Amino acid sequence: MSKYTDKLTKAEDTFTFDDFLIKPGLSSIEPKDVTLGTKVSTNYNLNIPVVSSAMDTVTESQMAVALARQGGLGVIHRNMTIEQEVQEVRKVKYANELTVKEVITISPDETVAQAQEIMDIEGVSGLPVVTDEDIVVGIISRRDIKPLRGKAADKKVSEAMTHNVVTISEDTDTETALDLAYENKVERLPVVSDDKKLVGIVTMKDILERKKYPNAVRDKNGRYIVAAACGPFDTDRAMALSDAGVDIIAIDSAHGHKTDIIKSAKEMNKNIESDLLLGNIATRKAAEDILKAEIDGIKVGIGPGSICTTRIVAGVGVPQLSAVSSVADVAEDYGVPVIADGGLRYSGDVAKALAVGANAVMVGSILAGTTESPGEMTIRNGRKYKQYRGMGSLGAMTGGVGAGKDRYFQTSGSNMNSTKLVPEGIEGVVPYKGPAEQIVFQLMGGLKSSMGYVGAKSIKEMHEKAELVHITPNGMSESHPHDITITNESPNYHPRS
Ligand code: 5GP
Repeated sequence: MSKYTDKLTKAEDTFTFDDFLIKPGLSSIEPKDVTLGTKVSTNYNLNIPVVSSAMDTVTESQMAVALARQGGLGVIHRNMTIEQEVQEVRKVKYANELTVKEVITISPDETVAQAQEIMDIEGVSGLPVVTDEDIVVGIISRRDIKPLRGKAADKKVSEAMTHNVVTISEDTDTETALDLAYENKVERLPVVSDDKKLVGIVTMKDILERKKYPNAVRDKNGRYIVAAACGPFDTDRAMALSDAGVDIIAIDSAHGHKTDIIKSAKEMNKNIESDLLLGNIATRKAAEDILKAEIDGIKVGIGPGSICTTRIVAGVGVPQLSAVSSVADVAEDYGVPVIADGGLRYSGDVAKALAVGANAVMVGSILAGTTESPGEMTIRNGRKYKQYRGMGSLGAMTGGVGAGKDRYFQTSGSNMNSTKLVPEGIEGVVPYKGPAEQIVFQLMGGLKSSMGYVGAKSIKEMHEKAELVHITPNGMSESHPHDITITNESPNYHPRS
């Protein structure tokens, strides 16, 4: 009988990032020729394959905006109330809305003093002047009021306003709007319907921001794309997020391959407009089972995370390159994108994850410690640091609304104080890294370089063409810098710690 010995001798060999390198191939591709567009869920494409972790020290609205501007995606964490999470989603959606729909207006019959007061209270420097029927008849700005200050505060708005208003229609593109604003030296352009009614306003500031981030990912209304996390059974949260216009909801669980979660995901999907990601899983069988819930994307990773102790505490997990490749083998046939979540340290790891079938990567530690990550900065020995903690750490499970608890199946039982929790993550700090934009730039620079070596000009070609070589620990130690004391920090390399 070999019932138990077979468990060892017939065990699958599994691998992770440091076990392989990508083989250089014949190439006519320069890194500058590479495009990094990818599918992150059934209905959403990104311009770079980078997604930020739904963790309370990584992603709130600021990080999501920073990533959307670069072409990636932020997943707002859920360690907060439903109302707070909805608010974070809204902040992203309204961050660079070209046409502001809730416009503060004034009637031509009101006084200049009233116009002045409204502008002061609302913090705006101009007001469209509209009739009772919402027809735009003028615009009044601080410029118009200044010469009248003191003397003619009781004058009617209609006497002080600019009558010749430059308006645009709802389908005017940004270039035309910008040209019009420059030509007419105006800061804001009211948007009017065919019957001249005011529908919104476009400001120069917002147009210029659009031009500054040409790679940004936007929804069909021109707003940034954003995702948000939700507990596996929290349909109320999912519906509130969907109503708030979140593009993608990520069901956030340490073990997505559970019958009740698959059932719940299927139900949730019926109640939301947003795309639905499900995770985390790490095996071929799990992919086959969760795909039955007709989800829009899969998150892969059990235990690879830098702050994660699941593999040590529970002895469970699958090294990440094996997990990603097993899931991608199945998901590709269904046309469902795969996100490799956790364990990435360098840009080369992003390339390896894509080489084995991932459509995008989810990163926590790489983006923790940036300007946009939530959390206070601290100083230690003259260096700046920011907090980074696992969502299954004691701090995350007892802080916020304790979302880490149900991620790690620890909600049952009364009196869940910290001595009754079994953490699967740790808490710490990472060096302050500056703006996320610079980190993403280096990460994508390394990926483009990798694709140049492979001869792949798109992520699809990376899936097809990239071959891997299996290396030994000696191969890996040869790969890192050696026999030198590093004197200057590199923006894309830090020694392993
Ligand atoms: P990193 O990019 O830092 O290596 O990994 C981040 C990923 O680790 C997250 O996206 C999430 O999937 C996972 N994660 C976050 N917190 C915890 C935790 O406390 N325990 C475990 N097991 N995984 C975590």
